[in-house]
Amino acid sequence: MTTKLELNIDTDQVVRNFLEWAKIDAPSTKEGFIAEQIEKKLQSLGFTIQYDEAHHHFDGEVGNMIAYWEGTMPDLPPLFLSTHMDTVLPTKGLKPIIRDDVIYSDGTTILGADDRAALTAYIEAIEYIQQNNIPSGPIELILTVSEQQGLKGARYLDYSKVQSKYGYIFDSDGDVGQIITKGPFSSKFHIEVIGKASHIGLNPKEGINAFIVAADVLKAVPQGEIKENVLVNIGIINGGDLSSIIPGSVNMIGEVRTFTQEDLNNTLDTIYLTASKATQSHTASVNFTVEKKYIGFEIEKNHLLVENAIESFKDENISYYVCDTLGGADTNTLNENGLVCITLGNGFKNLHTYQEHISIENLVNAVKTAVELIIKWRENHIEESEE
Ligand SMILES: [Zn+2]
Repeated sequence: MTTKLELNIDTDQVVRNFLEWAKIDAPSTKEGFIAEQIEKKLQSLGFTIQYDEAHHHFDGEVGNMIAYWEGTMPDLPPLFLSTHMDTVLPTKGLKPIIRDDVIYSDGTTILGADDRAALTAYIEAIEYIQQNNIPSGPIELILTVSEQQGLKGARYLDYSKVQSKYGYIFDSDGDVGQIITKGPFSSKFHIEVIGKASHIGLNPKEGINAFIVAADVLKAVPQGEIKENVLVNIGIINGGDLSSIIPGSVNMIGEVRTFTQEDLNNTLDTIYLTASKATQSHTASVNFTVEKKYIGFEIEKNHLLVENAIESFKDENISYYVCDTLGGADTNTLNENGLVCITLGNGFKNLHTYQEHISIENLVNAVKTAVELIIKWRENHIEESEE
């Protein structure tokens, strides 16, 4: 049996609290202060707080936070809600501007809606549930660090501290109503082009200019969407020491994103072969190495997590759609480590820029969604134990 509840969310309070969280400066590795503030808030809501030691792997101030509230029905299986505590750039000195019910910064910092929108949604939803005496199973918050630097916090998360198996991550730029059930495989590749360094004044004929070779490699390696759902990009080139030295080597770093491991492997093979071939007309060679970023995930469309999301959106009259993404998120890494989760949109736009913004409607809808998801999770599991 499910009950349809009329949610009465205080919009002004949601906006006010969102801005309070957004103003706390916490770029990647500098999450110490926001962690303290979140910890205080969650303790006042009855959560038990743990941290792991993930930050020792990348020189951060603090590890991932795993916070657990047993709810009013502590024997039910816990549901987790996850987001990251870092923002891609500082929000120090944030001056929010609200225009036509959309929140912007003043253009001199990011807004930090990625992902203070999720943090706000989770905390407001839990407070709402507590203040309205809505019964709930246990809720676990998994709050990662250094997500913006390649999902590092999630990669080094101490999963033995996590008690839940199923959950949601609100962290995508689709409006609230977007349900992402499939995410990409991604690996970085390093192409080192090796020529021969020599001094242009002393022995110019001995040099093999690695830049010239690298230019051929760069032109030869296919980039962009090289076929459907296969993306290749070379984003970094490093090389050279002095203007008087013919450069002996160049390093190029790129990445591939696909929906299958097979496509990923085949594409990496193609890049290596193409790069090698491009060096053949020169007396040069390449070193090719691959570094895994994350593996993909795919959750069945009839999984309870997806069904509950759809039901939540229906109950709140929020239009919804199920989709795939080639964007990476903690969802990739958490699924890889045995937690089962999907990403939901929370409607921040122009993320990672000073033009970042979010509508008040999306902020409030995210709170409603979190409340509904918590209620539906409890209802499903009560039904289960009654069967
Ligand atoms: Zn994010």
